[in-house]
Amino acid sequence: MTDLLGLLAFDRAHVWHPYTSMTEPAAVRLVTGADGVRLTLDDGAQVVDAMSSWWSAIHGYRVPELDAALVEQSGRMSHVMFGGLTHAPAVRLAERLVAITPDPLQHVFLADSGSVSVEVAIKMVLQHQRGLGRPERTRLLTLRGGYHGDTFGCMSVCDPVGGMHSMFTAVLPPQVFADRPPAPGGDVAGWADGVRRLAAAHAHELAGIVVEPLLQGAGGMHAYDPACLVVLREVADEHGLVLVFDEIATGLGRTGHLFVSERVVPDILCVGKALTGGYLTLAAVLTTGEVARGISASESGVLMHGPTFMGNPLACAVALASLDLLERRDWRADVARLHDGLTSGLAPLRSAPGVADVRTLGAVGVVQLDHPVDVAKATQAALEEGVWIRPFRDLIYTMPPYVTDDDDVARICRAVARATEVA
Ligand SMILES: *Cc1c(COP(=O)(O)O)cnc(C)c1O
Repeated sequence: MTDLLGLLAFDRAHVWHPYTSMTEPAAVRLVTGADGVRLTLDDGAQVVDAMSSWWSAIHGYRVPELDAALVEQSGRMSHVMFGGLTHAPAVRLAERLVAITPDPLQHVFLADSGSVSVEVAIKMVLQHQRGLGRPERTRLLTLRGGYHGDTFGCMSVCDPVGGMHSMFTAVLPPQVFADRPPAPGGDVAGWADGVRRLAAAHAHELAGIVVEPLLQGAGGMHAYDPACLVVLREVADEHGLVLVFDEIATGLGRTGHLFVSERVVPDILCVGKALTGGYLTLAAVLTTGEVARGISASESGVLMHGPTFMGNPLACAVALASLDLLERRDWRADVARLHDGLTSGLAPLRSAPGVADVRTLGAVGVVQLDHPVDVAKATQAALEEGVWIRPFRDLIYTMPPYVTDDDDVARICRAVARATEVA
């Protein structure tokens, strides 16, 4: 007990958590273990992780196949530099990613986090344009309401107003923002007109388009009409722009597609979050041959990026095991089952006081309030129902592990309902 209190006290005094203050630290709970879909808290409570550790732990925790892959790989080699060296885990993972993504995507860059993969994708876009002899094309077209990570290039394509990064505006490259795309069934034609006009007006300086396809995640959990993806592809082709789909949140089944890119194929695809089943940090950037050739034609002749931990063998080995598991388990059925459970379980909240909207897409359930969430109260209410959630802004949402059973899906819905009442 004193040990736990000591840990929490030191944490409070010295350790930053995501988007928190060191001088006014927000409350944190101590986790002592995780197993299946449950986290064990310091008081012994076992709570369903309705967040999948920020959308990554799709198979849950202590997954025997993933544990075994890690142990096996650490017995061979944990890490070697990727400059001048290669190894089976990285090559096999690249081979697998090429196989499970649309055919035109043939080349793989292994990055160490989602944000880094978006930085690499942006660099690829700019180098590609330089290779085509268009160095003046340096800006990116993106969508309001987007989220692409916390590093500077990523921040520049995050929502400029509602995003967390407005205070950095002066030092960020100014990008071109199109309106947030309409929800399914909305005015796609009107939105498309606006995007086409914007792209035409800026075509001379635009290098690429960077978007989260189908679902804008941390920027507001907004699902949009798939027809908008076709418009983005057309606009990219019309003006010679590189189309980047950031599937760090949507990839690997979450929306009901293995990748949204199956519907409309981008020139560059970023994958992250669930890639290692939530075990280790790893992301990948896939490109077409055309993009790779453009980069090679730029003045450096090479892609100018190479992190220390590129292609980390432990992360690659566990990613391979996670992709194996995804294929072996019927993830489509799991995601469809979660979709049904969340849709029917959250539907009654539509008429609850303070609720502005309830929506589901794949294994994602969102309750939008008409006011900002009281995060502390909402979190506590959900914990009392045995569920861990992490609301933000006016949103209480869940992205459960695919293996969550029906009873636990119902429990999550009850917890979201309780949280909605007190938030
Ligand atoms: C989480 C996320 C990122 C950033 O990934 P990190 O691994 O946190 O750096 C980028 N894009 C999208 C769509 C994300 O959801």
